[in-house]
Amino acid sequence: MQLDARAPTGPIEARWNEARFKSKLVNPANRRKYKVIVVGSGLAGGAAAATLGELGYNVSCFCYQDSPRRAHSIAAQGGINAAKNYQNDGDSVYRLFYDTVKGGDFRARESNVYRLAELSVNIIDQCVAQGVPFAREYSGLLGNRSFGGAQVARTFYARGQTGQQLLLGAYQSLAKQIEAKTVKMYPRTEMLDLITVDGVARGIVTRNLVTGKIEAHTADVVVLCSGGYGNVFYLSTNAKGCNTTATWRSHRRGAYFANPCFTQIHPTCIPQSGDYQSKLTLMSESLRNDGRVWVPKNAADCTKDPKSIPEADRDYYLERLYPSFGNLVPRDIASRRAKDMCDQGKGVGPEVGGVRRGVYLDFGDAVKRLGRDTVAERYDNLFQMYERITGENPYEVPMRMYPAIHYTMGGLWVDYHLQSTITGLFVGGEANFSDHGANRLGASALMQGLADGYFVLPVTVPNYLAGVKPGGIDDSHPDVRRTVAEVEARIKQLLSIGGKRTPESYHRELGTLMWDHCGMGRTADGLKFALGKIPELREQFYSDLSIVGSGEELNGMLEKAGRVADFFELAELTCIDALAREESAGGHFREEHQTEEGEAKRNDDLFSYVAAWEFSGATNAPKLNKEPLTFEYVHPSQRSYK
Ligand SMILES: Cc1cc2nc3c(=O)[nH]c(=O)nc-3n(C[C@H](O)[C@H](O)[C@H](O)COP(=O)(O)OP(=O)(O)OC[C@H]3O[C@@H](n4cnc5c(N)ncnc54)[C@H](O)[C@@H]3O)c2cc1C
Repeated sequence: MQLDARAPTGPIEARWNEARFKSKLVNPANRRKYKVIVVGSGLAGGAAAATLGELGYNVSCFCYQDSPRRAHSIAAQGGINAAKNYQNDGDSVYRLFYDTVKGGDFRARESNVYRLAELSVNIIDQCVAQGVPFAREYSGLLGNRSFGGAQVARTFYARGQTGQQLLLGAYQSLAKQIEAKTVKMYPRTEMLDLITVDGVARGIVTRNLVTGKIEAHTADVVVLCSGGYGNVFYLSTNAKGCNTTATWRSHRRGAYFANPCFTQIHPTCIPQSGDYQSKLTLMSESLRNDGRVWVPKNAADCTKDPKSIPEADRDYYLERLYPSFGNLVPRDIASRRAKDMCDQGKGVGPEVGGVRRGVYLDFGDAVKRLGRDTVAERYDNLFQMYERITGENPYEVPMRMYPAIHYTMGGLWVDYHLQSTITGLFVGGEANFSDHGANRLGASALMQGLADGYFVLPVTVPNYLAGVKPGGIDDSHPDVRRTVAEVEARIKQLLSIGGKRTPESYHRELGTLMWDHCGMGRTADGLKFALGKIPELREQFYSDLSIVGSGEELNGMLEKAGRVADFFELAELTCIDALAREESAGGHFREEHQTEEGEAKRNDDLFSYVAAWEFSGATNAPKLNKEPLTFEYVHPSQRSYK
């Protein structure tokens, strides 16, 4: 298939306005005739469902949590970027665009990134109008802080709970539409498949997670905002429920999966403390505004009390290696350097698997310079969280940090309209691959989710619907009945295996394999090893899986088993993608491709493209389609933060 990104041409600053003007409209009186399905009620889905409901469409919104307010977006801590330039420190839409294309290591589509930067300013206005309590200066103006990969302060925040406050804003708008009956909410309902009729998305099949009831929901358009797939690595900063089922099942029906190997590792997470652990905790990037990262210069000091190590014996390695950006280098770079330090034997904290995996993030200087009260105003809830988990007080002892899986830049391929390769299937938020290239800058995921939900999808979905006759498909359609039967058969198969191992144990083993061979450093040999092991493990899964209980009740094990089954397939594709991409770019670090200084080395001649993988059947190799990337404005160069 020839990929058509439908990205506009002409001056970049006029593209979105022109695309909006050219978009077809649906008469207000006709809008209620169109049924829109939105899967997901996080920032992207909640914003899209509320806005399309407000426009008058007949929206059904689905989530697996008991309330839309519990979507994973609630976990976002540090902030949301916007090019408001309130600080008058030289920011602009163009600079945010530039930083994002460069930060993504030149693997994103310029038109999309520019639109994102442009819409960032509208998002802040929208959220302030909703009453989102962004932090303010003493003067009353909205406050900003800096995040990695930028030399300006453009991050808006609400202490360490930005996602929660933004989600409450979106939820408020959603609740208004639920009350107005333009949105019907389906909580605790999991999408298990996509219904296509003649290659066009026409609905979804769901399981009621409380009763087990399988149902078909038909519609004129389906919008997926189902979040990212970081949990394929088992240990991650993501909520435990995050999974790939909605996107993977759509992939199997014809939606291409783009750049699955572009996964993000966040440099400041609380280090793993043992093999039994099932979750990792993020410490917001905002901490790098004032916290200084260091390790002991001498390996012999690694077990000493950090306060007893004199300044001269500390290596503030980010400040040393990257004097311009210092502790605020982008995430991929900060993560790799932390790993290097630990691999060199300079890590601190307890040994896990024979290695000390931790570096210090030290607020000692900040407390001296700003005073404890100011530091507390900025970070206290994060400090409390850290202390509750580790038992150590960051005002007194430096925090210990280590990188962990955090975000996925890959996702379903979408064009400029956010439509996938399946007509009528749109994808927003972390579920699509669109705007971040090979590395996402901090505070840009919330920006993208809300740009997609509040501003892009409410233009592009109606533009699509304007060319579609509403209705025409109901539950009796053969393709609907066939998809429902396939879902029922899949559940029956999982329940009937009757083996000995839990889905959780398979997930843990798969995740370890992925982290070891497709994590922070990847090699051809390691990836080939993983590609040999994954099918073996999957075979065991289908012959020795144990699920207690039935399908006609609340059954967490059954839910988990379905999600792990899809993770197996996605894991394999991720390794295939990582093996095919013979370069290093952003979060994808192929050890064979690095500069003498250990930085990621791209190969623009051969790999300046989006890898959009096509499903070719469970036992066939996936087919690679390429969307070439061209850079008219930000010309590819070796990224430097020195
Ligand atoms: C700890 C943490 C902190 C973060 N902090 C920041 C930050 O400070 N700034 C920033 O920009 N980004 C941050 N991020 C990233 C950001 O939070 C996410 O990328 C973003 O919130 C994703 O939003 P979303 O709407 O795309 O998906 P989500 O919020 O993950 O929502 C997914 C929705 O889809 C639903 N769903 C999924 N699958 C199904 C299915 N099969 N059936 C039915 N429903 C389904 C879920 O129920 C949920 O409602 C952080 C991430 C983490 C993990």
